Amino acid sequence: MKRTSIVDIKDLVGETVDVYGWVHTRRDHGKLIFIDIRDRSGMAQVVFTPGNKDIHELASQLRSEWVIHLKGKINARPDKMVNADIPTGKVEIEPIELEILNKSETPPFPIDTNGLEIGEEHRMKYRYLDLRRERMAKNMVTRHKLIKFIRDYLDDNGFLEIETPILTKSTPEGARDYVVPSRLYSGSFYALPQSPQQYKQLLMVAGLEKYFQIARCFRDEDTRGDRQPEFTQLDLEMSFVEREDVIRLNEELLISIVKNLYPEKKIQEIPFPRFSYKEAIEKYGTDKPDLRTDKDDPNLLAFCWVIDFPFFEKTNDGWTFTHNPFSAPKPEFMDDLLKMENIGDILTTQYDVALNGSEIGGGSIRNHTPEGLKAVFKIMGFSEERINQNFGHMLEAFSFGAPPHGGIAWGLDRLVTLLNNEPNIREVIAFPKTGDARDLMMDSPSPLDQKQLKELHIKIEK
Ligand code: ASP
Repeated sequence: MKRTSIVDIKDLVGETVDVYGWVHTRRDHGKLIFIDIRDRSGMAQVVFTPGNKDIHELASQLRSEWVIHLKGKINARPDKMVNADIPTGKVEIEPIELEILNKSETPPFPIDTNGLEIGEEHRMKYRYLDLRRERMAKNMVTRHKLIKFIRDYLDDNGFLEIETPILTKSTPEGARDYVVPSRLYSGSFYALPQSPQQYKQLLMVAGLEKYFQIARCFRDEDTRGDRQPEFTQLDLEMSFVEREDVIRLNEELLISIVKNLYPEKKIQEIPFPRFSYKEAIEKYGTDKPDLRTDKDDPNLLAFCWVIDFPFFEKTNDGWTFTHNPFSAPKPEFMDDLLKMENIGDILTTQYDVALNGSEIGGGSIRNHTPEGLKAVFKIMGFSEERINQNFGHMLEAFSFGAPPHGGIAWGLDRLVTLLNNEPNIREVIAFPKTGDARDLMMDSPSPLDQKQLKELHIKIEK
């Protein structure tokens, strides 16, 4: 099939092309019929004149969102008809052949607007139409470009992208797990990963040294605000590094992303300013401060690092970790950790990166000895038996020469949201869930039939 992308016709005056796409808008002036034809690359004007009777007749039937194939000649528009707002605004298509490939029902909402004026649940039910709008298509393109940039950058820096399992085991990362019943092992369950944390550390034990993954993570939390039951992280881990190495690599990557993909944006301060957790709370009352000097400027990016978090916090049930149980303490607190002394004063190697008041990533240098990791769980009051049951595999792995290692994970959806100046992460996810964790388009979650339930050894209590 010979096909020209619509945006490319701008340079093809005098040539005959085949374009394929949707009827974006139609203006019927009786004699003259104007169609804007749209494909992913852009839009162009087609002018049907009564001279070509058959085509004119067919064109009069066209409606919004019908799919057409058009053979046509590219003409320059008269000067006063030029539309400076679109890349193809200096040309128009004179039709030679028109073929209707599919008709369309009238769409349930306009798709030639930015869509933010439409009820979001309505948009989600017809997401495949919502994604046709220019703003949403652009979000998909920039997201793709950002992920590709990250992949290329990390590949250039010696990282390997390695997939880790989706069917895994409950991990203690602070949120509730999504679980999957096992058909073969009645009463047993897989858990979907809250993050690839344990696997990526095991890849370091395996000697792979530099890992990353564009990883889907699942957390069964109340989906308030800017959270989704499943979301995407840039997850990475490196061996033989200190905190400074991980921070430097990530800072350089973030700066390169902005310079290459968002050249219109300005980073307020390089190197990114750093605060200890204590300083951040004292100065800004939050551990993700918004440092922008001008909050009205949509192109100003104020990144910062927050470090030196307390490792543990006290709850009604005793001590728990503030960020990640696999973190190492800062080296000067290792003694206290192993002796389980001055617990409230122990600082972790955790580092968080914030952008314009949102946390966009966090990580740490890990405890790579079995003794260190075990001490964390002991401080949390876990019995020897529970430690072995939940983390025996990690302790065992660390007993086989685990290298010192550390890493980070970015909330990729949130980063794209901020860089694209979108109001929330659902705008940069192709098929997001609603605030109450439903997929309105697929109508999920949904009941299973009796046969499936039986196979899974599940009885539903009404
Ligand atoms: N796995 C951690 C998280 O998801 C990030 C990390 O420490 O690498 O928050």
